[in-house]
Amino acid sequence: MTSSTSVPEGKTTGDLDELKRLLSQVSDLNAAAGLMSWDQETQMPPEAARVRGLQMATLAGLSHELFTAPRLSELLEQAQPGEDETDVALLKVTRRDHAKATRLPGAFVEDQSRAASEAHHAWIEARQNNDFASFAPHLQKMIDLARRYADFQGYEEHPYDALIDDYEPGMRVAQVRSIFTDLRERTLPLLRRIVAAGDATDYSVLSRPFAPTAQREFALKIAREAFGLLPDFSRLDESAHPFQTNFSRSDLRVTTRFDEHYFPMSLFGTWHETGHAMYERGISERLERTPLSRGASLGVHESQSRMFENLLARSRPFWQRYFGEFAQAAPDVARGQDAESLYRAVNRVRPDLIRVEADEVTYNFHIMLRFELELALLEGTLKVSELPEAWNARMGEFLGVTPPDDTQGVLQDIHWSAGLIGYFPTYTLGNLLSVQLLDAAKQDADIAADLQKAEYGRLREWLVQNVHQFGRSRTPGEIVMGATGRPLSADAYVTYLEDKYGDIYGLS
Ligand code: ZN
Repeated sequence: MTSSTSVPEGKTTGDLDELKRLLSQVSDLNAAAGLMSWDQETQMPPEAARVRGLQMATLAGLSHELFTAPRLSELLEQAQPGEDETDVALLKVTRRDHAKATRLPGAFVEDQSRAASEAHHAWIEARQNNDFASFAPHLQKMIDLARRYADFQGYEEHPYDALIDDYEPGMRVAQVRSIFTDLRERTLPLLRRIVAAGDATDYSVLSRPFAPTAQREFALKIAREAFGLLPDFSRLDESAHPFQTNFSRSDLRVTTRFDEHYFPMSLFGTWHETGHAMYERGISERLERTPLSRGASLGVHESQSRMFENLLARSRPFWQRYFGEFAQAAPDVARGQDAESLYRAVNRVRPDLIRVEADEVTYNFHIMLRFELELALLEGTLKVSELPEAWNARMGEFLGVTPPDDTQGVLQDIHWSAGLIGYFPTYTLGNLLSVQLLDAAKQDADIAADLQKAEYGRLREWLVQNVHQFGRSRTPGEIVMGATGRPLSADAYVTYLEDKYGDIYGLS
């Protein structure tokens, strides 16, 4: 119900109510498709794949049809929000989504979805056979489509601006470039010093056998106790690639994967996805079943997952508090270890080839490399055929390692085959924001004291108040300014790395 008195009786309020009703139907269709997709990754028998694909395409088509139908478009154009802040945001965000959805000709959308499906299959084979050449024409097609997409959407300075805006509303290439340059210049010397210092502990503990069922139990116990992921509104399942999805704030689905001989994968993976889930949990109930009821951007989302995974679960107080329980869950792993040795082991810094396994210091270099290459491909200054060579050269320059083959190099990520160009920077923006937010939260002395005891209830409440509750009703830029008082920069993250790893690696 809209109660504003400035809205004339009848028509306008009625329009807004009807609009909300249609939008909630779109939201329900998307939730149904999301549930099918979750099921596909966690439960579905393999033979169901073909028909499931068709069923999901039908739901996606219906959702798009409803969202772009003449009646909804008309209501969106006419609706007056009145005084209600949420209604103002709802109209603003929905109009932006709607404009993006209707700027693309149907033929282009079909072309794009077909090309992505072909590119995805080609990528899987190319990666298996270490055969970049067979993937190259598909990648070229995805880049051409991304350029055309940017032209349809429009941009002021750089076509990449139109791409990144889908994942990080309001972010522009110039800002990413300047933040990344600063980050690189300040963390590359730190990385060199860490590498020169050598091992900080014995890392063989990380590969000691730890039964997957016991890993699951421990990961979930901590997710509940420390991070608030309660069974009343969540589930943990296994999938080939970990993810978080949800169908309302009361139905959060987290997945992880297990390696008996590398327990950090399931533990930190679960806590990472728990960070994503608790963000969705914190979004105001008032936004339910509207386009506002999602995280503000991928970067803000990643700041929450990285905060739980790295800033909390890879902190010294965390292991001081939970080492005892870890030792109970995995006595053979814990033998001869203590909180300090485990803390050091899970914070190993090692320049390596694979992004998803990278530590806090090297991770962002994997992202900066991809960002630079995406720009060059889009600008046409780099040819697809030259990509593997450019990739390997930068890996050498940043991390001092050279991929032995393209499978462990340029072919490792799914993103480009799915047409997700402009997506990678959000991972690093999220890393940077995680520390900037935690620093702001620590201004509260109680929260700072809690962190020393690995006690996170008050911090979680702060995150709900300052980040989560808004959903998409505030832009990422507004959330960062509101919560931290300054725009996003590399400053907090660089200081965090210097302090933490200076201590672990004994750098003076
Ligand atoms: Zn994530």
